[in-house]
Amino acid sequence: MTPDAEFGYELLVCRYAELAWHPGDGPRPAIVSRQLGTRERRWDTVVVEVDPASLAARRRFGDETIGSDLLHVVRHAPADWAWYRDALPDPGYPWRYVREAIHRAAGRDLIETRRDGNRIQIRRLRPYPDWVERIVAVENKPDLDASAADRLADQLAHDVETALADEVWLATETTGDRIERALLREMPVEAGVLATDFSAGVDVESGDVAWHPSDLSPTGRSRDDAATIRRLEIAERAYGKGWRSFHDTMRPDCRGFELRREGRALVPYCTAKEKLPTARECSGSCPQFSPEPPQWRTNGWPIEGGPGKGVRQLLDRRRERERDAVADAGSDPRSNGTGFDGDA
Ligand code: SF4
Repeated sequence: MTPDAEFGYELLVCRYAELAWHPGDGPRPAIVSRQLGTRERRWDTVVVEVDPASLAARRRFGDETIGSDLLHVVRHAPADWAWYRDALPDPGYPWRYVREAIHRAAGRDLIETRRDGNRIQIRRLRPYPDWVERIVAVENKPDLDASAADRLADQLAHDVETALADEVWLATETTGDRIERALLREMPVEAGVLATDFSAGVDVESGDVAWHPSDLSPTGRSRDDAATIRRLEIAERAYGKGWRSFHDTMRPDCRGFELRREGRALVPYCTAKEKLPTARECSGSCPQFSPEPPQWRTNGWPIEGGPGKGVRQLLDRRRERERDAVADAGSDPRSNGTGFDGDA
């Protein structure tokens, strides 16, 4: 089945990327997320290629995203006790916000704090690793028509110009047909084209490179500090969010909500509407929402808390398993960290 909703297609592309990255150059350890970017530009699918050993070091800071204000503290916390204003670079905003961030960082065991009279001193618990290798943006367009191609061409041209990502792709569905060559000619030549065929669900064979992307990373010079920090913020959000967080906004606690298998992917399905619902329609305002009966949540249901809670736990466990697998991939250089046979 090919979901008609772009949302469904996006989930399948995310799962494909998780299984098959890199589609052109062979296995590279990577974590995958969706709907991330900057204020100006939001990407559909984001692939963060990582150094597995450094990702393992990042794992020791916990499962949650380290947001921009905490990153400022965590990245610069010294090995020995020091007054925070001596240790940290000027943030460019009032120090009182830094003090708040220090307390939150200490509360999450990201750093240590102590008092020396009136002064707060900080010390790192472990160095924050340099775990991000490359950031890749994928724009998903299952049905590429002329107007979609026009819009996409502009968006991808913007990505090529800003070079915030190291590589950009268009993913489009072929269902066995040839892609419309005339439409692809409108794309910037630097953007790769991934032709997917998810008619039998997702597996490592369900994508083909129709056009290879160019490397957009600046040659011979490093990115400036602002760009480096923006990329790290995106990578941190990708790490914490993954691509399965749709359960945060959708209604797995509705009696119509299910997860269905599409090859090696698990995607949401609504039994009331008999289709894959979009994230927008499967929300608190859905007129067909029907809460799971209380008895599902108590006796007789194999997962404590009922099916809705079970769905959330299952998806969170899958996200964690992926992060662990990628962090372990350093021991097998041929692996991208997704060698297990499980679904989704
Ligand atoms: S009925 Fe509405 S809330 Fe329930 S699963 Fe379907 S789309 Fe989601």
